[in-house]
Amino acid sequence: MKYRRRAEIVDAVQWWKVGDHPAVVCYGGGRWICRQCGRVNMDHGLVKMVNEPICPGDWVVKARNRGLFIMKPAEFEAEYEKV
Ligand SMILES: [Zn+2]
Repeated sequence: MKYRRRAEIVDAVQWWKVGDHPAVVCYGGGRWICRQCGRVNMDHGLVKMVNEPICPGDWVVKARNRGLFIMKPAEFEAEYEKV
């Protein structure tokens, strides 16, 4: 048997800088280069509820019953389209 994911409407914001989404705050402290995007820490945000860093261009997605989560652009574009 084959199954596909049910259609699902989510709220999503592509994040680029602090101020783009109310749940993302400044990522302060330390000095590091991100292994995922190669940018410095100051270019990143911290998604408060999940306590995870977000790279510029990542999506903050809010789905029913799942709360907030972060998706990489390629992943997001593969799963969602604008309605
Ligand atoms: Zn990054």
